Amino acid sequence: MTAPTSKPVTAFGPDFPFPYDEWITHEAGLGQIPESAHGKKVAVIGSGAAAMTASFELMRMGLHPVIYESGQFGGRLRSHEFEGSGGITAELGGMRFPISSTGFYHYINMLGLETEEFPNPLTPAAGSTVIDLEGETHYGETLADLPDVYHEVAMAYDEALEESAHFSALKDAIRNRDAGRIKELWDPIVEEWDERTFYDFVVSSKAFSRLSFRHREVFGQVGFGTGGWDSDFSNTMLEILRVNVCELDDDQRYVVGGVEQMPKGLWQREVDGMAHWPDGTSLSKLNNGGTRAGVRKISRHSDGQQLEITDAWGRVDSYEAVLATCQSHLLTTSIETDEDLFEQKMWMALDRTRYMQSSKTFVMVDRPFWKDKDPETGRDVMSMTLTDRLTRGTYLFDNGPGKPAVICLTYSWMTDALKMLPLSVDERVNLALAALKKIYPKVDIAQHIVGDPVTVSWEDDPNFLGAFKGALPGHYRYNSRMYGHFIQEKLPEKHRGIFMAGDGVSWTPAWVEGAVQTALNSVWGIMTHFGGSTHQGNPGPGDVYPMLGPMVLGE
Ligand SMILES: Cc1cc2nc3c(=O)[nH]c(=O)nc-3n(C[C@H](O)[C@H](O)[C@H](O)COP(=O)(O)OP(=O)(O)OC[C@H]3O[C@@H](n4cnc5c(N)ncnc54)[C@H](O)[C@@H]3O)c2cc1C
Repeated sequence: MTAPTSKPVTAFGPDFPFPYDEWITHEAGLGQIPESAHGKKVAVIGSGAAAMTASFELMRMGLHPVIYESGQFGGRLRSHEFEGSGGITAELGGMRFPISSTGFYHYINMLGLETEEFPNPLTPAAGSTVIDLEGETHYGETLADLPDVYHEVAMAYDEALEESAHFSALKDAIRNRDAGRIKELWDPIVEEWDERTFYDFVVSSKAFSRLSFRHREVFGQVGFGTGGWDSDFSNTMLEILRVNVCELDDDQRYVVGGVEQMPKGLWQREVDGMAHWPDGTSLSKLNNGGTRAGVRKISRHSDGQQLEITDAWGRVDSYEAVLATCQSHLLTTSIETDEDLFEQKMWMALDRTRYMQSSKTFVMVDRPFWKDKDPETGRDVMSMTLTDRLTRGTYLFDNGPGKPAVICLTYSWMTDALKMLPLSVDERVNLALAALKKIYPKVDIAQHIVGDPVTVSWEDDPNFLGAFKGALPGHYRYNSRMYGHFIQEKLPEKHRGIFMAGDGVSWTPAWVEGAVQTALNSVWGIMTHFGGSTHQGNPGPGDVYPMLGPMVLGE
């Protein structure tokens, strides 16, 4: 057994164990392009985390990213400011960011954004947690306060991870950034689990087979770390294992004032000492303060070289490189994409990408009244709540003294999110209040609501058509094709010049770190496309891909 170390676990692999955080902080920089390419325009579709990360780094190399956005700036990092509240926000997309996301935090720290511990279940930040299943309610501050069944479930999952995934050894290898050892442990897991579901993993484990069906139900509803995971039961187990081994569901923080400040900050940040551009240049300045409209068409110019982008107003521009960060199924729905730009096997991967549904509903309340004590029990009158009722997860945000507080009344996925889909915001709030009333009969949340509630169903928005990828069994090959597409030297000419990035291209969908890492892959790809290269002392993802790239499963 490897000796325990104090090094932190980071999102280092396991499929492609490349140190993105070291690459972007190295003093030599990410690489350079020839002077003849300086100032050349690159079309970037989208303005979310991936688009802004890639655009920022491409600008620093001397390229001119031109940003197209069909919806709201920031994409799925969307912080809704309650009307007239002076900065009180609700995170409609990404909201809790594990500290193992070191690529993402590089930009958060660079922008000077403040973070706080996220009020997840049974954490000190939540204060107290209520778990309400099948009408039975338990109150606790830590796992130790909950009945035995919760401990048994937690222990069983830990045991199952050891039994089937060499969990401690794999985590140690990730901590130590030991790429060889990671591959030794992870590659056989890929072969064994690509075509098997999360549910299969649970039921076929020795640990859970000793326990009752009720234990599996409790696991599905309460899960590990942040809440219920039954909505992921049908996903490939590999995706869940990545979350576990990279500690994506642990030690999460939120960005004070809203995570949308990340893409907006990168857009506005004025940078000195860049290749080609004068000091003080920003993405915003290069784009005259605004993004282009949404992209309607991507095609190859008749010269066979350049790519043509047609925007929503019919304006056509030509580029040597295009980076698409929108969700992949939009390339066949809202964007007319020349079929010849990708090989058919790639289309298979893009079209088979499966997106999950997700819905959230927030209200602003006059104060964090949930911290009032119930005179009979001495407990908080209301707590962070996990339940099998339709609200599923209810999160409480105290914005500090004298400020309104915020409640995420319901955060749900898949079938639970679909239940909300046809409903208006008021109907959603009323349903959530009715469900919570059954758990907290003495609390009148409605009396505390101020301002207008806000809701989102990501699957209902034509700019997304889903919240995030949730890979199904057998999707490893598709993921591999999309992830490795940034290396284009072996592609036929007609398939070159179009790049992809975003969490849907990554191995870790639903985590912004995947958007950042794939954006950095695309930076390497675009740099190489323009004839550039990395510094010898700071190899980039494409340089080491032949050695460290994901294992290949035969076709
Ligand atoms: C409900 C929810 C909860 C989440 N929770 C977390 C979390 O807690 N922690 C975490 O780390 N991550 C979380 N995520 C994931 C995180 O939000 C994403 O990984 C990240 O925001 C994705 O960034 P992206 O750049 O890949 O894609 P996006 O942000 O989706 O950017 C793509 C952009 O392309 C635009 N676009 C679409 N079509 C066109 C077109 N035709 N022309 C031009 N532009 C177009 C879209 O409008 C969008 O702005 C969550 C996501 C959701 C939806």
